[in-house]
Amino acid sequence: MKYELSPMFKADLHTHSYFSDGSFSPEELVDLAVKNSLNGLSITDHDTTDAYSRLIPYAKEKNLPLISGIEISSSYKGVPIHILGYGFKLSHPSIISIEEMQKKRRFVRNQGLIERLNKKGIDLTQEEVLSLFPHPPSQLGRPHIAKALLNRGVISSIQEAFSRYIGEGKSCYIPSITPTIEEVIDHIHQAGGLAILAHPHLIRANHLITNILDHPFDGLEGYYGTLSPKKDQKWVNIASSKGWTITGGSDFHGDTKPNQPIASSWTNMTTFTLLEEKFNENLS
Ligand code: AMP
Ligand code: ZN
Ligand code: FE
Ligand code: FE
Repeated sequence: MKYELSPMFKADLHTHSYFSDGSFSPEELVDLAVKNSLNGLSITDHDTTDAYSRLIPYAKEKNLPLISGIEISSSYKGVPIHILGYGFKLSHPSIISIEEMQKKRRFVRNQGLIERLNKKGIDLTQEEVLSLFPHPPSQLGRPHIAKALLNRGVISSIQEAFSRYIGEGKSCYIPSITPTIEEVIDHIHQAGGLAILAHPHLIRANHLITNILDHPFDGLEGYYGTLSPKKDQKWVNIASSKGWTITGGSDFHGDTKPNQPIASSWTNMTTFTLLEEKFNENLS
């Protein structure tokens, strides 16, 4: 199957709002999407769909086609794997249950991470991190902790927080307790959605890629942020050979990741329409 990507139709299916670690509200994301002439949008917050109660009516008002989305944290043999879910039923118990489970697991991980920072003389609490955000995020992540460290003047950039303290393998890092890839795919499927392997080029374990791709995904994210089309092609080819769906998105976070502008990558009309039909079926 040939995957056509035309600039005539662009649906950005990977964006984050302030319900996770993005800096914009759902309404601001819709306005930005319209301003950038996007033909479709999905907000894929980390482990939460809380943006949708405000997003659905606002996108309707602005005539912006929308599909349900989420980015769920998983891992394989200790390697973090992000899985995108699309078109699923938003209120489905399997989505609600995985969001709740992730919230509990994140709380425990964040607590451990903060305790390590405390041992270094940085007296931070999760409550303090949360209080820094005018709109409290539904899922607290390392980028929020990085912002708190920046606010304290402990470091001078978000990047430094990761490279010195909370990045993988750094002195205050502890891995998250995550569901398996199978569990995440199963929860998305139960809610009637498609499970897509997010940004496969970012997986830092080449020897595990074949095993990871052996899982029952429906597709992968072949176009991502400002990744060059040449590199993108590798993943597009892999997906095509498996008969998988290919999606694309910017992974827009606003100020949190300033180098990834909205609409820098996108999904084509055929794929978006397929996902939109699924979403509409699951709305009732
Ligand atoms: P968490 O899910 O709480 O472990 O946080 C993971 C998020 O932190 C990822 O989605 C990235 O957006 C961000 N992140 C991870 N590593 C880095 C890094 N080295 N620099 C900046 N952001 C990072
Ligand atoms: Zn993020
Ligand atoms: Fe991700
Ligand atoms: Fe993301």
